[in-house]
Amino acid sequence: MKRHLSLLSAILVAAAVTAGGQPPQTTAIRAGGLVDPDTGTVSPNQVILVQAGRITAVGANLPVPEGAEVIDLSKLTVLPGLVDAHNHLALTYKEVPENNVYYLTYVLDSTPLRAIQAVSNGIQMLSAGFTIVRDMGNNGNYADTALRVGIEQGWIPGPTIINSGIIIGSMGGQFSPTPEMAKDHNIVYPEYLDADTPDEIVKAVRQNMLFGAKVIKICADCKPWGYSVNDIKLVVAEAAKAGFKVEAHCQTVEGARRAIDGGVWSIAHDSGMTEENHRLMAEKGVWRAGTETPISLTGHTTKERYDRTVRMLKNAYDLKVPLTFSTDADYWVQGKTRGELAIEFIETWKAAGIPAPAILRAMTTNGYKVSETEKVRGPIKPGLAADLIAVEGNPLENIDALRQVTFVMKDGIVFKRDGIVTPEKFFNAGPVKGWRVR
Ligand SMILES: [Zn+2]
Repeated sequence: MKRHLSLLSAILVAAAVTAGGQPPQTTAIRAGGLVDPDTGTVSPNQVILVQAGRITAVGANLPVPEGAEVIDLSKLTVLPGLVDAHNHLALTYKEVPENNVYYLTYVLDSTPLRAIQAVSNGIQMLSAGFTIVRDMGNNGNYADTALRVGIEQGWIPGPTIINSGIIIGSMGGQFSPTPEMAKDHNIVYPEYLDADTPDEIVKAVRQNMLFGAKVIKICADCKPWGYSVNDIKLVVAEAAKAGFKVEAHCQTVEGARRAIDGGVWSIAHDSGMTEENHRLMAEKGVWRAGTETPISLTGHTTKERYDRTVRMLKNAYDLKVPLTFSTDADYWVQGKTRGELAIEFIETWKAAGIPAPAILRAMTTNGYKVSETEKVRGPIKPGLAADLIAVEGNPLENIDALRQVTFVMKDGIVFKRDGIVTPEKFFNAGPVKGWRVR
């Protein structure tokens, strides 16, 4: 009998393996509170079931299936992962040696070095609770694509990356060359793609799409000539062929106006923001990625700039402009990880008088929408990727609770637990999700 049983179990195991490997392990997360950023509410004592990287069920006191691994977060508040809608993970400028002048970083640091730095920055962002980062250019020669692919193939932990490839702009720049620049004889290679004529604009958009971008980024007004409304419409139309959206870096009021008229998806930075532009953005549903630097980051803003930033963020909120949490935190501040630096930006949102639930929505729901992941990743709902974080306290009452993210799960795998990063399961040598990920 015993022999028969072991034979039977051997057959069952073999059957399960032939049917597609081992039966997927279920993980049951007990959440003391579960935040819904859409409604601004916390539901007590929820159970979240996870299988094969996806959420399968969410509810109060759901029965835990036999054999499930139980993760007890009953003393914590669970919420969906955070989004930074504008960062540059393969760029870290600093006081020494470049005096915080990032043009020098491009010259001094090679793309391979920056790609390695991007891996580290991605891990630091994930540890702080950022499960999605829109990586908007200034990443050397497509280090952002390399980062995204490395994470997607399962070699390294990191946030889901929505990357832009090389920023497309009109002619400009004056550099001393890196090896890449010297070899290819391109003045601002590889930080910007020079594209002045319609043909060049189309080709630049196609190049980025070919080399693994997921969103297109342009400089609308980095030079006095900048892009016209028609130029921007051309970018938007070409990007749309691959279903891609366009973000415009805008530093002037006129540039932002042209970007709005040209039909961009999102606008980066707040220098071009005025009440009139805000009204148009609200009307057209243009996302605002204002990159609101807090005053505490000495040397990265001025009192005057900060006061305007706070005033205009409040204005945008009052006028119901679609707001994202975005940082542009692409520099080193002593004693802070990249993720701790990014979370620092909630200071500006608090200073603008924006209530905690609205700040949290900008950091979650709106982040998924601007990243266009909301149907597959972001919300804690059955069928979606199991990305979630946990904190002590209630971020809907005190947004500073987000400064201490003690638990992080990405794609159903625990990345951080009890405040300690345990990334072993993210390091795979082989094609976990297929070599064809590009
Ligand atoms: Zn930026």
